[in-house]
Amino acid sequence: MKTAGIHHITAMVNDAQRNINFYAGVLGLRLVKKTINFDRPEVYHLYFGNESGDPGTVITFFPWQKQLKGRIGTGQVGTTSYAIPENSIDFWENRLEKSNVAFEKSTRFGERYLCFDDPDGLHLELVERKEGHKNNWTFHKISSEVAIKGFAGTVLYSSKPNRTAHVLENILGLDFLGQEDGYLRFKAEEDLGNTIDIKLTPSVRGLMGAGTVHHMAWRARNPEELQNWRESLIDSGYNPTEIKDRYYFKALYFHEEGGILFEIATDPPGFTVDEPLNKLGEELMLPSWLESKREELESVLPAVEVQLLEEDE
Ligand code: ZN
Repeated sequence: MKTAGIHHITAMVNDAQRNINFYAGVLGLRLVKKTINFDRPEVYHLYFGNESGDPGTVITFFPWQKQLKGRIGTGQVGTTSYAIPENSIDFWENRLEKSNVAFEKSTRFGERYLCFDDPDGLHLELVERKEGHKNNWTFHKISSEVAIKGFAGTVLYSSKPNRTAHVLENILGLDFLGQEDGYLRFKAEEDLGNTIDIKLTPSVRGLMGAGTVHHMAWRARNPEELQNWRESLIDSGYNPTEIKDRYYFKALYFHEEGGILFEIATDPPGFTVDEPLNKLGEELMLPSWLESKREELESVLPAVEVQLLEEDE
C-alpha cells in the first residue's frame, strides 16, 4: 500500500476571525467548512482548501482563545508548504508585503521558497510547482493563475529522523529522493501534498499549543484500505486508534517514533456530504447528534465571516 500523499493538516490557533482573515483574506483559500470540534463542540473547527476542498489542499484549525501558546519543535510538523503556479512568486511577494507579512527567501532541493509565519506563529512556505491543477476559487485580486493550488508538502521536525524516515518509506510507501543540506526528501504519488522533508539538524522539543500543528493526515482511498492500513500498522508494532467517523472522512491516528501524530483519512465522502459545492463554508454545519443544541452552540461561538481585508479594497 502507498498513500497518495497528504490528506489534510490540522493546527491550533487562538482567534477564529484572525485565522479566517489570514487563510481566506490574505492567502485566498476557500473556507470550505465551518463546523465545531466534535469532541469539544464549544470550539470551532474551520477548514480551508481549494474550491472543492480536495484532499491535499485542506488545512484545518481549532481556534480557542484560552489555549496556551505552544512551541514549534521536535515531534511536530515544523513547516507547511503550499504550491503556487509557475511564475506567480512575484505576485505573492507583493501580496505578502502589502499585507504586512514579513517573509524570507530560502532554497531547498533546488526550489525557491517564500517563508513566513501566520498570525499565530505557524511556519508556512510558498513554492512554485508545475504539477497540480489550478484552484478555481478566486478571492478578489487572487486569480486562478496565481492562486494557491494546495499543499506542496511539509517539513517534519522529528526527534528520531531515521525512524520517521522508516515510516514514510516502509509503511506509507513514499519514495526516498535524497539528502541535501540537512534534510531528507521523500515523495508521494499525487501532484499535490507530495513532498515530505525531514529536518536532520536538531530542534528544541516541541510543545503542543496555539501556533503549532496538531497532526498531519495521509490519504487512504476508501474505508477498506483504511482498515488494511490499520492492520499493517499493528503488524509493524505501531499502536493505531480505532477507526473514527469524522463525518467528512473516516480516520485513524498513530504516533510515529519521532513523536509526530499522524492520521490516515479516507478521501470519501468529502465536504459536499452536507452542503452543496457552491455553498461550502457559508453555514455552521453540525453533525446530526448536535443539531438539537444548535441555538446553544451558536450563542457560545463567536460570530465569524470571510471578509475582504482593508488593504485589498
Ligand atoms: Zn485530522
